[in-house]
Parts: sequence; C-alpha cells; structure tokens
Amino acid sequence: MHAWVLDRSPGEYRYGEVPAPPVGPREVRVRVVASALNRMDLWLALGMPKPPVLPMVPGCDAAGVVAEVGEEVSRWALGDEVVVNPSLACGHCPECLAGRSVYCASWAILGEHRSGAHAESVVVGEANVVARPAGRTWEESACYGLCGLTAYRMLRRAHLSAGETLLVTGAGGGVASAALAIGLQMGATVYATSRHEAKRERAVALGAAASFPSGEPLPVEADVVVDSSGEPTWASSLGALKKGGRLAVCGGTGGGRVELSLPKLWFGQYELIGSTMGTFSEFDELTRLVAGGLPVAVDSTFQLAGYPEALARLRAGEQFGKLVLRH
Ligand SMILES: [Zn+2]
Repeated sequence: MHAWVLDRSPGEYRYGEVPAPPVGPREVRVRVVASALNRMDLWLALGMPKPPVLPMVPGCDAAGVVAEVGEEVSRWALGDEVVVNPSLACGHCPECLAGRSVYCASWAILGEHRSGAHAESVVVGEANVVARPAGRTWEESACYGLCGLTAYRMLRRAHLSAGETLLVTGAGGGVASAALAIGLQMGATVYATSRHEAKRERAVALGAAASFPSGEPLPVEADVVVDSSGEPTWASSLGALKKGGRLAVCGGTGGGRVELSLPKLWFGQYELIGSTMGTFSEFDELTRLVAGGLPVAVDSTFQLAGYPEALARLRAGEQFGKLVLRH
C-alpha cells in the first residue's frame, strides 16, 4: 500500500510503498478517508521516541471505512464508517473487560508504538473502532481521537463539574483546544493561556471567559488546571490552583523536569493527576459528545501529498486546532 514512511529515526518522512499489515482474527482493516496530525508526528521523526519498528508509518488519528474483517470479528462489517481509537488495547483481558483498557498489558498508542494512519489503510483490533459520529464531517471525525480522548479523561479524572473553573494552558494545541470545548460542555468557566495574542483572542471567541499570556502569574484561580507544556508553565499552573484544586498533566512538550514544594502541595490540599489517552468507554462517551455537537477545532485540511506542508505548519506552531489529511 502507499503510505508516508519513516525509514530511520531521526529521519525524514517519504511517500512510498510498504507491505499492507495483515489482519488478525480479531482485527479490522480500515481504509483511511481522513487522518490527523499530532505532535507525535514531529517527535517520531526526531527520534524522541524512536519507533519500535522501522519502517514506521506515522499518524495517530483516522476515520474511514471498514475494508476487511478478521474471522472472529462480530461487531463490524465491510463498508461500516468508523473512527479509530488510537488508545490500543486487546479488548479481552481482565483489565480491558473491567473498563481499564489503559492498563492492558498490550496497551499502545497508534502511530507511536504501532504503525499508524497516514496510509491507504490501517489495521487495529475490533475494540479500537467506533461508529463514526453522525452529522460530522470526515475531517472532524478524524481529528478528535488522540487529543480529545486525552483531554476527556483528564477532566473526568479531575472531577471537573458544572460551575467550577478550568484553566487550560497553551490554547491552540490539540489537547488544549479539546479541553476548552469539553470544559465548556461540562458547564465550567474556562480560562486559557497562550504565548500568542491571536490564539488568546481565538480562545475567547470559542467561549473562554478570558485568556492570559503563558507562564506569568495569573489573575484567576482554578479548580482544575490542564497542562500539557510541563516545565515552562508548571509554576504558574500550580500557582493558579484554588485550595483543593486539581492539576492534570498529560505532556511535557517544553520540558519534563519540575520542582514541587511539598508544603504548598499539602497546605493547598492539591491533587496532581498524571494521565494519558483513555479507555474504550471514555472514547464511546467522547464520541457521543462529538455526535451531539461538541465543537472540534479543525485548523486546516491538506491532501495526503501535502503532509510535508502540514508538518511545517505544525512545527511552526501556527495552527489553532487540528491539521487533517484527506486521503
Ligand atoms: Zn487488554
């Protein structure tokens, strides 16, 4: 099949032929209609992390049509329109059956640990696809997976409730955009930060009550802070918590080492939550929200051949929301 491929890491992506992955008994092949970029696409090419196998096809997010099913697959038929859940798990071990698929022994991220979706087709377990949300475009269907799921699980684990205050750092990033939309949907008052004035304005246009420059002491207090930047925003994120506040962390794009004052932690009665991706049921719940009209921020759409231009836009940090490839 044709795909974008990384032959070595660090390295450059090239468009070429790779063998189509075989379909196991409990797996489905999805012919990709649209796939979305994530920062993972950049990290892989930099060798951070190095892909476990080479050549590697990048791409964590996809929506498409079921084109082949394994002999034991019962839930899906050829032609079904689906979204791929990139939080891969076996679907039948005790952890998966107990609703904790993120603790599955074979848990992996599509496009990081397993070859991904910027290809003609992608193969995943039958538990890792859901019916495409009705009424949404292919582009929207393809781009809420990885970041939306991460944001949804963080807010669920942080017990964000209606009437509370949520602070989202790094407005415009995938997780931040999703957290803004989901937080509003949950009935929270949402504040955002960004280094870029245009992104601060955009966050307010999308429903944030106010927005502030990144990394500076903030004039608001939050019940919940969602942070994916790590080191550069750590002090201001922690400093923005109300008593009893919850700080949820899913990434450290700006650095992964931070300092923590323990007296501040206990006198503040704070909770720190490390979180990544989400479970099958969280993906179902998120997909229902998307079907119900949850805003999905699509920055721009490129043809599959335009992947290098899309990567350049991502690398420059110019986007607000997701970059999508139409296959
Ligand atoms: Zn499992």
